[in-house]
Amino acid sequence: MFNKRTRIKELLENDTHNYEVTVMGWVRTFRNNQFIALNDGSTNNNLQVLAELGKFEESLLKRITTGASLKVKGEIIPSLGKGQKIELKANSIEVLGDSDAEKYPLQPKKHSLEFLREIAHLRFRTNTFAAVFRVRHSLAFAVHRFFNEKGFVYLHTPIITASDAEGAGEMFHVTNFDLINPPKNEDGSINFKNDFFGKATNLTVSGQLEGELAAMAFSDIYTFGPTFRAENSNTARHLAEFWMIEPEMAFYDLEDNANLAEEFIKYIIKYVLGNNKEDLDFLSQRLSKEEKQKPQNERIEMSLIEKLQFVTNNNFERLTYTEAIEILKESNYNKKKKFQYLIEEWGVDLQSEHERYLVEKHFKKPVILTDYPKQIKAFYMRQNDDGKTVAAMDILAPGIGEIVGGSQREERLDKLVERMKEMHISTEELDWYLDTRRFGTVPHSGFGLGFERLVQFVTGMTNIRDVIPFPRTPKSAEF
Ligand code: ATP
Ligand code: MN
Repeated sequence: MFNKRTRIKELLENDTHNYEVTVMGWVRTFRNNQFIALNDGSTNNNLQVLAELGKFEESLLKRITTGASLKVKGEIIPSLGKGQKIELKANSIEVLGDSDAEKYPLQPKKHSLEFLREIAHLRFRTNTFAAVFRVRHSLAFAVHRFFNEKGFVYLHTPIITASDAEGAGEMFHVTNFDLINPPKNEDGSINFKNDFFGKATNLTVSGQLEGELAAMAFSDIYTFGPTFRAENSNTARHLAEFWMIEPEMAFYDLEDNANLAEEFIKYIIKYVLGNNKEDLDFLSQRLSKEEKQKPQNERIEMSLIEKLQFVTNNNFERLTYTEAIEILKESNYNKKKKFQYLIEEWGVDLQSEHERYLVEKHFKKPVILTDYPKQIKAFYMRQNDDGKTVAAMDILAPGIGEIVGGSQREERLDKLVERMKEMHISTEELDWYLDTRRFGTVPHSGFGLGFERLVQFVTGMTNIRDVIPFPRTPKSAEF
């Protein structure tokens, strides 16, 4: 058996010494031909390995370079050096894999996030990305834990779908046609009858419609899977491939929905505050340094950790779209024309600058906006009695903007069909969806939370490309 090793995190957490261990990891630095900083990804703190002078062959020492992988056996002893309580006095060192120091792209110095994005296959080996992806892991784990504790069923919705009616975003086509010469109809359009699925298919933009079907049997379900949008917008908060969490609950109205979303966000943030302290401290310091580069008036006042604690300790602000429009209209930003899109009338869709004004300048905390104009929202949202608005909710977070989009669903068959006709959505294609309203329909609600936006919020990373291992964005699908 090869894998008889102790993780570095475990060693550093343990204060005792004078015992034998085996560790394996990658060299971060090698100083004075004696001190190896070894990292195995379990923590950002390296284990200092002491290779006593004269004990090892010169030919071996030459191979201990940044990026090389080692297996070290030795004894844990109290450290004389500053910065660590213990170190490993090596008895044997085996180089598992060499790393040519001249060619290794990660030098022991600070690299820009942009440069690291180009070498995303190696960036896990930096402190910043190691912390980000360990936190991402913990958040994903907390998502499953939260729903499991609440009795929700985890539902795997399809990634390839034929329904194009949701209107959530531009879709990627899925086909195995020869792209040079696909079969055509008489009118010149592509004839999908002979395509793999016998019809036009695409990558899913949301698992919601299928989620609703299952909620009509299990009461409470959630999905957590990849979602695709051919967004041609190159922003710091949009990816072409991202992960979405979509709970769907029977017997929930919009208020129940908002309550669940708020409880959920607080729960997962509390989970990482409790379990990822070391990484969050590191990311918090990283962000503070980054903030210091900005002019005083653009800096965020709270540290990352303070921001997260603030979110878990305070209620989200709740207000209607109509109330938000009034605030925006009356705002200095609107009056002094500081918004790119001025708010002039009720009914307009909010731009991210407006959302950010509300959360960052006005309320200074997460905001749940409800009851949007029906013209700017999807067909399945429940129509309010005023005839103008639907029971929608968006949750907006400081620094990110929209993090959750959700609604109470229209459970009344006649109202739903009427709205679909108004919006030219085929009731035949979605007949299976309408069946839920025909057979035992109930008030129900759900929401979608973009996982990467949550990871951004929690880690303080400003670009969404830095919180997913291998980002897919316009003109980029490397690795
Ligand atoms: P936005 O206005 O920010 O584009 P949206 O209204 O298109 O968002 P929804 O369709 O409501 O978003 O999707 C639900 C959630 O999925 C959003 O609240 C957001 O967190 C996330 N999301 C949407 N589009 C993307 C994307 N391209 N990349 C990453 N996350 C996204
Ligand atoms: Mn969008």
